[in-house]
Amino acid sequence: MPDLRLLNAEPSEAERIAIDAALGAANGANGRTARDDRTKRHLLLPALRAAQQRVGWVSEGALGYASRRLAVPPAEAYGVASFYALIALEERPPDVTHVCTDLSCMLKGATVPEGAHPSPCLGLCERAPASYRTIAGARPVEEQIPAVGPPLPQAGQPGLRLLRRIAAGVDPESIDAYIQAGGFESLRHARELGPGAVLREVTESRLLGRGGAAFPTGVKWAAVAQQPALPHYIVCNADESEPGTFKDRLLMENDPHQLIEGCAICCFAVQANTCYIYIRGEYTKSAAILERALKEAYENGLLGDSVLGSGFKLNMYIHRGAGAYICGEETGMLESLEGKRGQPRVKPPFPAVVGAFGAPTVINNVETLCNVPHIITRGADWFKGIGTDERNTGPKLYAISGHVDRPGTYEHPIGITFREMLDKAGGMWKGRQLKAFIPGGASAPILKPDQIDLKMDFDSVAKAGSMLGSAAVIVMDETTCMVRSVARLSKFFNHESCGQCTPCREGTNWMELVMDRLEHGQGTERDSQLLLSICKNIGGQSLCALGDAAIGPVKSLVDRFPEEIEQHVRQRGCPFPQPRYFENGA
Ligand code: SF4
Repeated sequence: MPDLRLLNAEPSEAERIAIDAALGAANGANGRTARDDRTKRHLLLPALRAAQQRVGWVSEGALGYASRRLAVPPAEAYGVASFYALIALEERPPDVTHVCTDLSCMLKGATVPEGAHPSPCLGLCERAPASYRTIAGARPVEEQIPAVGPPLPQAGQPGLRLLRRIAAGVDPESIDAYIQAGGFESLRHARELGPGAVLREVTESRLLGRGGAAFPTGVKWAAVAQQPALPHYIVCNADESEPGTFKDRLLMENDPHQLIEGCAICCFAVQANTCYIYIRGEYTKSAAILERALKEAYENGLLGDSVLGSGFKLNMYIHRGAGAYICGEETGMLESLEGKRGQPRVKPPFPAVVGAFGAPTVINNVETLCNVPHIITRGADWFKGIGTDERNTGPKLYAISGHVDRPGTYEHPIGITFREMLDKAGGMWKGRQLKAFIPGGASAPILKPDQIDLKMDFDSVAKAGSMLGSAAVIVMDETTCMVRSVARLSKFFNHESCGQCTPCREGTNWMELVMDRLEHGQGTERDSQLLLSICKNIGGQSLCALGDAAIGPVKSLVDRFPEEIEQHVRQRGCPFPQPRYFENGA
């Protein structure tokens, strides 16, 4: 921790230039990035990120200078900076390699070389084992590594909607290519329909939110549209941080205008003149591509003072996170957007009433908003015609990683069975046997092969005792140690708990300790009961969903794989080969 008196220290010339440039751009230097700010505090994170981008870390001088420029008390500025894992408050080498050690990468044998930083999930799970580099002074687009990943598994396949342009190889960095492929026709049509009709169409489509909570999108929009308080805001949740989840990254990097069009239609429907796209800090490439796409949209009259000449004013901004999973929780994200620690708020009031900067706010995930142009173009009936039943409608993206032959993002009608999905992903890696799968990201309870014919929709997966969540499917083969896998997930949730609620803060810590000792041969016969007791004390006792999320994998381990716990206790150690990253304490 720095000596707070040093916050009066002056920044270096390079830090000052970086911070001034960040604040100048954000305050409207080019007339398009001016934010509708009621306070300047929301610029704190962009200012700190800019200083770090330039010199590799945030010194006391840089922190003090940013806090003085933005009138944020130094102690609060330090509290914010220290909350985010990607903000380095101690000097470090300018070139840092971050190696993912989370579940999907662990399953593919992740190791942390000397000098590299172990990291929670980087959202590069289809490239597992994954890593990326941060290079001080580099242009953002040079930062993200690896440059080459596996191709889109469905490249060239007809009949896709959300991935249609990506599969057809349409250039993501050209708005002309997007327009030639039918882009922005939906926004034009929305303008002709009017806000009320757009809202009705989205409501009738029964589009459920694709971020994990599966809340009806039309209901959310209507709640904001009817709020008399102004302004209204839209925040696109692009903080995709659930281990195993990487589908939104694909959409942003390869079809950014589709997202911009979906956001614009949402803004038109609820009469919001400002939209923020909150992108997780690790998604450097996504942010750079979206920035360029926004610039093109302004230049083509699709954003700005008069969208498509209609007189409707709309500004859209990228806001980057800085390494905190909890900012994917919608109110944690709003706090972060406002320049604070990303700690979830007490609800109610819900964001539809009191959201960003205290105003009514729609928060939708990237995939949800990417569905909107298709619903407006093809109609609610078309959307409802895809899927399992009246509640589970539309196309769905599934991010498949772990022990499958062709990991990647796939578009399927919602409700495809897990067996079909696995077949389309090339089957099991190396022809091994399926041992377990997680149907909806790290917080979803683990399922066994007896559920292989499960329909992968929200309700069917819930009935099977798990959840579809973000549809991040992690597949585990016969060589997988379930205790070690759940130990890694427990470590993740303990690391990411924001610490506000005692049951979550203390309980996730205890879960990690007990899981770790089980894996390392120090467990006892009583540990299963102890784990269930910890779960009971966390479940339903916390402010946000992270507490409940943390207990899902642990309870399913105790319920569905008791023999593996017993084996670890009996043998006083793990019967499976140890991946190397556990040996160096990562
Ligand atoms: Fe923070 Fe956990 Fe409480 Fe959520 S449940 S607010 S993550 S301490």
